[in-house]
Amino acid sequence: MNNFSGLDLVKPLRRAIDAEGYAAPTPIQAQSIPHLLAGRDLLGVAQTGTGKTAAFVLPMLQRLEASANGSPASGRPRALVLAPTRELAVQIGDSVRAYGKFMGLKYVNIFGGAPIGKQISTLNRGVDIVVATPGRLVDLLNQKKLRLSEVEVFVLDEADRMLDMGFINDVRKISDLVGSNRQTLLFSATMPNAVEKLAAGMLSDPVRIEVAPQSTTAERVQQRVLFVEKQQKRGLLSAILKDDTISRALVFSRTKHGADKVARYLEKGNVSAGVIHGNKSQNARQKALKGFKNGNLRVLVATDIAARGIDVDGVTHVINFDLPQDPETYVHRIGRTARAGADGQAISFCDLTERDFLFDIEKVTRNTVEVDADHPFHAPEIANAEPSGSKAARKSRNGGGRNGGGGRPPRASKGGKRFKPGGQKGHRHGQRRGNSRAA
Ligand code: AMP
Repeated sequence: MNNFSGLDLVKPLRRAIDAEGYAAPTPIQAQSIPHLLAGRDLLGVAQTGTGKTAAFVLPMLQRLEASANGSPASGRPRALVLAPTRELAVQIGDSVRAYGKFMGLKYVNIFGGAPIGKQISTLNRGVDIVVATPGRLVDLLNQKKLRLSEVEVFVLDEADRMLDMGFINDVRKISDLVGSNRQTLLFSATMPNAVEKLAAGMLSDPVRIEVAPQSTTAERVQQRVLFVEKQQKRGLLSAILKDDTISRALVFSRTKHGADKVARYLEKGNVSAGVIHGNKSQNARQKALKGFKNGNLRVLVATDIAARGIDVDGVTHVINFDLPQDPETYVHRIGRTARAGADGQAISFCDLTERDFLFDIEKVTRNTVEVDADHPFHAPEIANAEPSGSKAARKSRNGGGRNGGGGRPPRASKGGKRFKPGGQKGHRHGQRRGNSRAA
């Protein structure tokens, strides 16, 4: 018996939850589901990894099952979920299938890069739920392959990323086509003004549920940074991967080309690695993701857009091979580990050109990332570099000058548990030892 019993979910859903092995609702589920079952609109400020998919899929299925009237009509879905990327759309589709497996509802995934004919014939046969990316959906709407006037539940997932990716006009257009008598849900990891505005235009008297304060990093993720020269990063990655507690690692690269290079390098060193980015075919991406999920690939190298929202349980480590310029991206990336209550680690490589990115990440997340100097490639000059920019900027970046404007002491070595640099001590000159000021 699970702990979902207080949530008024119907039996087929409770059975599916049992089959998934969920013992208790996550906070966003516990807070949202009662309001959604009561028909309210919802604004959810939540990252992936919080269980937000089940928070909207479960009540959506319950509502659709209750109002089902025989087989679904051709090309007239009753629920529409929009997601920014194909990967996320597929994952939401998988959740619909898993949570709805004891119900008779039908769904289709609609996204670009896959044969359109198949999607059209599935629509023609009749579906209750469409899970789509905006671009392909607009194509099909233009071709009059479906109508949205009977949509009762409309969900916009990862709205912030949807806007980042330039889908605003498509989203508006789609929203206008959905009947006004609908329940609308909007989820976003962050709430910049553009998303607030979109939400204000789409939602009617919504409940607002926020599960992790904006711009704070997941508490269960242990974060550390390793200062390293750019050209040593691949060597450092290999050294790190000697640690076999890193059983499933998602490695982020800023560029597609860089992602390919890293994956090739790992393969050469006999580390099983896949790669996903925008230049890969849909097939190749799905294949890599599958290999990563089923454990055949120990490492998946990804760019941000490709990795957006990918939902793989048991990612033990997120490795930022390159640090992102945008702190929110850092927050999204590290949210890929420590999901659903598990622990996880985020390891970031920082070269001199990325030193300012780290200052910004620390400022925005209000967290000092622990320095790990206990590795063969530690570069003290990067560790001790000051933020560029004005003295005032420096002061504020350093938390009002707490750190005296200088670099900072690395975490004292814990006996080289994670690395066994074996005879490479000569590389570790210049390492300052002192009390960590890591939070
Ligand atoms: P999401 O935030 O929707 O991407 O979900 C993150 C992960 O949490 C997914 O792998 C889900 O299968 C899992 N999950 C969702 N709800 C629960 C729950 N109540 N208990 C345990 N795991 C869950």
